[in-house]
Amino acid sequence: MHLLDEFNRHNQSAVELLEPKAVHAAVEQNLRQVARYSTPGVPVLVLAVFVLAAVSGDLAVNATRSTFACVAILLTGSWRWYGARRLLRPEARLSSKDEMFFALGVLSTPLVWVGYAASVVYTDPGGLSTPLALCFSAALCSSALPTFGLWVRLCLGYVLALNIPLALLGILMGDAFGWGLLLVSVFFMAFCTAQAKRINSALWQGQIDNLVLDAKSHELEDAKLAAEVANRTKSEFLARMSHELRTPMNAVLGFAQIINRSSEATETLRAHSKQIIESGNYLTSLINEILDLAKVEAGRITLELSEVDIAALSKSVSDSLRAALRGGVLLNFSVEDGLPRIQSDPIRLRQVLVNLVGNAIKFTDAGRVDVDLGVEGGEIHIRVRDTGIGISAADLGHIFDPFVQVDQSSTRRYGGTGLGLPISRQLVEMMGGRILVESAEGKGSCFTVCLPLARPAED
Ligand code: ADP
Repeated sequence: MHLLDEFNRHNQSAVELLEPKAVHAAVEQNLRQVARYSTPGVPVLVLAVFVLAAVSGDLAVNATRSTFACVAILLTGSWRWYGARRLLRPEARLSSKDEMFFALGVLSTPLVWVGYAASVVYTDPGGLSTPLALCFSAALCSSALPTFGLWVRLCLGYVLALNIPLALLGILMGDAFGWGLLLVSVFFMAFCTAQAKRINSALWQGQIDNLVLDAKSHELEDAKLAAEVANRTKSEFLARMSHELRTPMNAVLGFAQIINRSSEATETLRAHSKQIIESGNYLTSLINEILDLAKVEAGRITLELSEVDIAALSKSVSDSLRAALRGGVLLNFSVEDGLPRIQSDPIRLRQVLVNLVGNAIKFTDAGRVDVDLGVEGGEIHIRVRDTGIGISAADLGHIFDPFVQVDQSSTRRYGGTGLGLPISRQLVEMMGGRILVESAEGKGSCFTVCLPLARPAED
C-alpha cells in the first residue's frame, strides 16, 4: 500500500544511483502532495450528498436515511481531512500508520457517497437522482486520477469504491435500467483503471528522471570542485617551481656571459657560451611565461593600477618591435584624435601588446602590420592587424588554450611557447576587457583588445 513501494516498483534501474535519503525525501514530498490535493475533494463529496438529498426529495421523504448519510459524510470527510492535516504537519515524520490512516479516510468518503446514492437510485430509479448520482460519481472518478495519480493503489481503490456498489446495484435491479447501470459502471472502472496506471507511470517516471538528474548534477558539481582544487594546486606548484628554476638559471646565464666576455676565452668557447646564453634566454622567457600563467590561474596576480596613456604605450611597444620586421614588412601605427587615458596596469598592458604585436610581426613574411587605436561603443579598441599566415577557422577556437600552437611546423619555423595568448587574455579580462580575433588562413589576422573606458567597480 505504501508510496515507497510504488517508488521502488518504478525505480528498478536508477535505484543504485540515488541516495536513500534523497529517495525518502522525494517520497515524503509526494505523500504530502497527495494529502494536500485530496483536501478540496472533501467539500465536493459533502456537497454531493446534500445536493442529492435535496434534489431527489429524499430529505423530505426519507429524512432518517438522508440525515444519516449527511452525518456519515461529514464524519468521514473530517477523518479524511484530519488524516491529510497529520501528513502535512511540518514536523511530521511520516509513518506507515499515518499513511494508512489517511488512505482509509480517503476511501471511506466515496463509500458513504455511493452507498447513499445507490440506495436513493434503488428507491427512485426514474427520477432526477439517477443522472445526479452518475454525474457526481463520474466527476469524482475523473478527479481521482490526477489527485491520487502518484499513489496508484489508492487511486484504484477510490475508483472501485465509487463504481462497484453501482455495478452491484445494477445486478440487483436485474432490469434493463439495472444492466445499463452495470455497463456504465464497468466501463468507468475499466477506463479509469487504464488511465490511472498511465498517469501513475508518467508521474513517477518524471520524478525519477528529476532525481537521477539531480544526483548526476551533484556528482558533476563534486567533480568540478575537485578539478578546480587540482588546478589551483597545479598552478601553485608551477608558480613555486618556476621561481625555483629561475634562480639557478640566472647563475648559468651569468657565468656564460662572463666566459663569453673573457679575454682568455677561445673562439670555440665563445661560440659555445653564446649558445648557452641564447638557450638560457629562451628557457628564462619560457619559465617567465609559465610563471605568469600559473600566477594568473592561481589568482595571484594583482593589477597595479595607474593612469595610462594608451597611445604612447602602444607606440613605444610598436617602435621597440620594429627591429623584428622581416622582408620589407611595414609597421603602421595610427591613433584616433583625443584618445582618453584610462586606469590600467601599464606593465601588464605592455606585456599584452608586446605579445600581440610581436605575434603579428612574427607570423607576417610580407605585406604589413597595422596597429590602430580608437574609441568604439564606450571602449578603447587596440586593433593589431596583419597580412601574415592567418589562422584556419578550425584552429581559431583553440589559440587561447595554453601551449597551443596552430601548426607544429610553423612553430618550429617561428618559435614561441604557445603561452602568450592565454596569458594576454586572462590579463585583459582582469582589466575588465576582452580580446577579439578574426583571421583567414593565408590572408592575415586581426586581434582587437577592447578595454572599458571606465573600469567596472571592484566587488
Ligand atoms: P606563441 O608563443 O606560439 O606565439 P601565442 O599564445 O602567442 O604563442 O600564440 C598561439 C598560437 O596562435 C601561435 O603559435 C600561432 O599559431 C597562433 N597565432 C597567434 N597570433 C597569430 C598571428 N598574428 N598570425 C597567425 N597565427 C597567430
